[in-house]
Amino acid sequence: MHLDQNVSLKTLHTFGMDVEAKYFVEAKTPEEILTLLNYRKMIRMPILFLGGGSNILFTRDFPGIVIRINVKGIEVMKEDQNSVWIRVQAGEIWDTFVQFCVDKGWPGVENLSLIPGTVGGAPVQNIGAYGVEVKEVIDAIHYVEIDSGKQHHIDGKDCCFGYRDSIFKQTLRGKVILMDVTFKLNKKAAFKLDYGNIRNELTLMQVETPTLNDVRTAVSNIRLRKLPDPAKIGNAGSFFKNPMIFVELWESLKMKFPSIPGFKMDSGRIKIPAAWLLEQCGWKGYRIGDAGVYPDQPLVLVNYGNASGIQILDLANKMIESVQEEFGIHLEMEVNVI
Ligand SMILES: Cc1cc2nc3c(=O)[nH]c(=O)nc-3n(C[C@H](O)[C@H](O)[C@H](O)COP(=O)(O)OP(=O)(O)OC[C@H]3O[C@@H](n4cnc5c(N)ncnc54)[C@H](O)[C@@H]3O)c2cc1C
Repeated sequence: MHLDQNVSLKTLHTFGMDVEAKYFVEAKTPEEILTLLNYRKMIRMPILFLGGGSNILFTRDFPGIVIRINVKGIEVMKEDQNSVWIRVQAGEIWDTFVQFCVDKGWPGVENLSLIPGTVGGAPVQNIGAYGVEVKEVIDAIHYVEIDSGKQHHIDGKDCCFGYRDSIFKQTLRGKVILMDVTFKLNKKAAFKLDYGNIRNELTLMQVETPTLNDVRTAVSNIRLRKLPDPAKIGNAGSFFKNPMIFVELWESLKMKFPSIPGFKMDSGRIKIPAAWLLEQCGWKGYRIGDAGVYPDQPLVLVNYGNASGIQILDLANKMIESVQEEFGIHLEMEVNVI
C-alpha cells in the first residue's frame, strides 16, 4: 500500500477535471482500510472515499487524503428455493455484480445494468433506473465509523433510503465508510419491463419472451444510445434530481403550462421530470467554453475537455436559477460537489 503525494485525480473520476489529491492511496483489502483509518486518526486531515468517481464534481484540489476503495469480491452467503443472499465488497464494480447475477439467472438488478461506479457507491444515493432502485435488493450493509473505527451492520430497511437518498447522504455523510453490501434477491421475481423503452427495445431486438440476459441487453442498448460515454465526454450522469412538488403548485403550473408532465407519487406529491423543465428554459445543447449541457439530455452536464469544476458548478447554478424564475421550482443537485 503506497501513500502518494500530489496525485492527479483526472482519470479517477468521470468528469475528468485535472485536480490533485494532497495524499492518495488505493486500498485493496479491508485490513488496509482499517490501517488507513488508524493512520488518519494520527495525522487528522480531511478524508475522501472514492469509488468509481462517477457521482462527484471536484471544484478544487483535495487538501487531505483520498482513499480509493478497490476491495473486490462477490460471495454467495446463503441460498434457498426462493432467495439468495450475496455479499459484495465495496470496491467491486457495480456492473460486474449485475453481470454475475444475470449469469446465475437471478433477477432483481438487471434494470440497473451499466450504471457506472462501485457497489459501495450504489447505496449512498440509492441508485435507480428503469423503475428499480437498489434499496429493493439491499439486505444489510457493513460500515465502519471513520473516527472511532467502530464496525456496524445496518439492515437495509434502516438506511432511510429515498429517491437518490440514504442515511449515508444525510446523518452519516462523511462519517463512515461502507465496507460491503449484502443483497437479497428473489429468484422468482418478475421482470420489470414497463418503464422507459424496455418493451420497445425488446421488440426491436425481435424478442418475444425475454430472458434475464435480454432485459440486460435492452437496458444497456438504451443507455448507450441516450447517455454520453464518460470515456469520451466527461460527465456524472444526471446532475439534478427530479423535483417533487405539492399538488397545489402543480395545479397552478398546469394552468400556465398545460403540457407540463407530472407523476403522482405515493407521498401524494407530484414528480416533475427535471429534463422537461430545463428544456423549456432553453438549456438543451447549451455550451460555454468547455462546460456544456448534453444535447440529447439536459439533465447531464458535460466537460468537453478542459472545463473546471467551478465552471460546471456556475453553469448548474444558472440552470437552477432559471428553473426557479420560470416555474418557481427549486432543482436539487444529485452529484456530490467537493
Ligand atoms: C454516464 C453515467 C450514468 C449514470 N447513470 C445513473 C443512473 O442511471 N442512476 C443512478 O442512480 N446513478 C447514475 N449515475 C451516477 C453514479 O454512477 C452512481 O451514483 C454510482 O453509484 C456512484 O458510485 P461511485 O462508486 O462512482 O461513487 P463515487 O462517485 O466514487 O462517490 C460518490 C459518493 O459516495 C461516497 N462513497 C463512495 N464509495 C463509498 C464507500 N465505500 N464508503 C463511503 N462512501 C463512499 C463518496 O465519498 C461520494 O460522496 C450515472 C453516472 C454516469 C457517469
